[in-house]
Amino acid sequence: MIKMIELPYPMNALEPYYSKETLELHYKILYKGYVDNTNKTHEQLENSRKNNDFTNIKCLEKNLSFFGSGVILHELFFTNMGPAIPTSPSVELMEQINKDFINYETFKKQFTQAAVNVEASGWCILVWEPRFNKLEILQCEKHQNLTLWGCIPLFVLDMWEHSYYLQYQTKRPDYINAFWNIVNWNEINKRFKNINKN
Ligand code: MN
Repeated sequence: MIKMIELPYPMNALEPYYSKETLELHYKILYKGYVDNTNKTHEQLENSRKNNDFTNIKCLEKNLSFFGSGVILHELFFTNMGPAIPTSPSVELMEQINKDFINYETFKKQFTQAAVNVEASGWCILVWEPRFNKLEILQCEKHQNLTLWGCIPLFVLDMWEHSYYLQYQTKRPDYINAFWNIVNWNEINKRFKNINKN
């Protein structure tokens, strides 16, 4: 059984950029739902195997992908945010950003534009793609569509309405601009250091 992660900061720590109310709803209701449903799906899959009955396999595999990806992306998201104390990419990560996106400003612009243009509910994700040996920015519809299999997500932004609507309504760009103030590069640097680059 998987357990919810603890947030590494208090519920009001991201104010004013990400309100306490939004974070509480996001963590206590939405994220909890993904964890609970992943556990439920694991249990149902276990029962299917025990009973040798795979009648509902299509639905179960879909739920596993949806809820499971929901858990993983939310945990990356909650921990790649932090109190608005400025952090920055490590020397190593900045070198890679400069190599793959010209410079930090262009990276930030591409990430922001990709996030603004996520269709309906989804995510904006900086990944390391080992086959291409480079950083890429991806949009992700729902949690599991349009993924690039084998990639390693480094830095994610939740573009589902529940993540910003309470505070920013339809002003997606305002949410994204505010988000840049609470990016925790220390955590992203750690994730980047842990990958095996060629
Ligand atoms: Mn969310």
